[in-house]
Amino acid sequence: MDKNILSTRIKTASESATLEMTRRSRELKAQGIDIITLSIGEPDFNTPNPVKEAAKQAIDNNKTHYPPVAGFEELRKAIAHKLKRDNGLDFNFKQIVVSNGAKQSLANIFFSILNSEDEVIMPAPYWVSYAGMVKMAGGKSVLLTSTIENDFKVSPKQVEQAIGNKTKAFLINSPGNPSGSVYTREDLQKLTKVFRNHPDILIISDEIYEYINFGGQHYSIASFPEIKEQTVVVNGVSKGYAMTGWRIGYIAAPQFIADACNKLQGQYTSGASSISQMAALEAIENNPEGSEYLSIMRNSFRQRRDLLINALNKALPQIKTNIPDGAFYLFPDVRWYFGKSDGETLIRNSIDLAHYLLNKAHVAVVAGEAFGNPDNIRISYATSPELLLEAVRRMKPALDMLN
Ligand code: PMP
Ligand code: GLU
Repeated sequence: MDKNILSTRIKTASESATLEMTRRSRELKAQGIDIITLSIGEPDFNTPNPVKEAAKQAIDNNKTHYPPVAGFEELRKAIAHKLKRDNGLDFNFKQIVVSNGAKQSLANIFFSILNSEDEVIMPAPYWVSYAGMVKMAGGKSVLLTSTIENDFKVSPKQVEQAIGNKTKAFLINSPGNPSGSVYTREDLQKLTKVFRNHPDILIISDEIYEYINFGGQHYSIASFPEIKEQTVVVNGVSKGYAMTGWRIGYIAAPQFIADACNKLQGQYTSGASSISQMAALEAIENNPEGSEYLSIMRNSFRQRRDLLINALNKALPQIKTNIPDGAFYLFPDVRWYFGKSDGETLIRNSIDLAHYLLNKAHVAVVAGEAFGNPDNIRISYATSPELLLEAVRRMKPALDMLN
């Protein structure tokens, strides 16, 4: 059959770069090659035992039928309670829509609001799938540049200047992927002022790394009353509770956005897995901000961040890094290696460098191109300290060959 049957939408879409690098490293591992995978953003912890038990109980209690499209009422109420408990936010449970991961929550939003050529303003570096989803929904990403020197944060002026008559939404992700940047309460307050004159622009706040914040308690942009009515909070259980495979994310949104996402999801996928929803309920109800589980996880990520930065600074000072305040990624500048060669491979950009590291050092990272910053690579440090040190040990001789 002719491949032309495929839609332009899918032909012009690209594979998610984070998942592509991880697929490549899985393929090499299957060939018996010992790859250290620092390309996927997922906690290396196991899902907490009580959460697993809740899932087993859900099966035994026959919670195995179609759940409501927007999620079980008890879970939506628990999420509304969590938003009050941890973030001081008031949402009715009807404003919550539970989806198959925060990824689907985001896709629901973009497909609900974007007409052809509508624009979504987002700071770069951005998480790769934002741009992929906006494109598939027919919209355009308008990128705001940032630098390592200012911790990859954008200014209110940049946001203001990017707003045009096609702007539908502004996307903020703090703590951020791939930058690890955290916008402080003051940063967020300044950003909200931009929207005083733009009540029709939707602010999409992706807070999936909420609990992995080393600088203090997370602050949600939705806490500012003047923009609350135009803000959608996106969150989920993947990162905070090491539940990436359970696929539960959610939005808390103005009612009409929640209704639109519910309608879309009802046609596309229906409610998320009933068993996973019951597991998420246990995780959200019993592990508030400040709980032992979250503190242990956060401290462990902070130690690994420091370990990796120290090891890189000592072994490879040509790699320029900042000290991110959250998430579990470093996004260092690797420009020093561009134009250099080991006699065999010329490194033209960060894509070449990521492939070189995979092939020569057997370390998988993701090229910055995918995140809108081609001078950088993303290293996920959500793996054991031993493997992080071993990765640097492998990278050093391979990178020292480049001159
Ligand atoms: N937002 C960001 C910034 C992410 O890094 C991820 C990671 N996959 C997601 C959303 C989606 O997470 P999930 O679908 O696992 O809930
Ligand atoms: N969000 C993670 C990452 O950036 C998981 C993979 C993905 O869904 O892109 O690596």
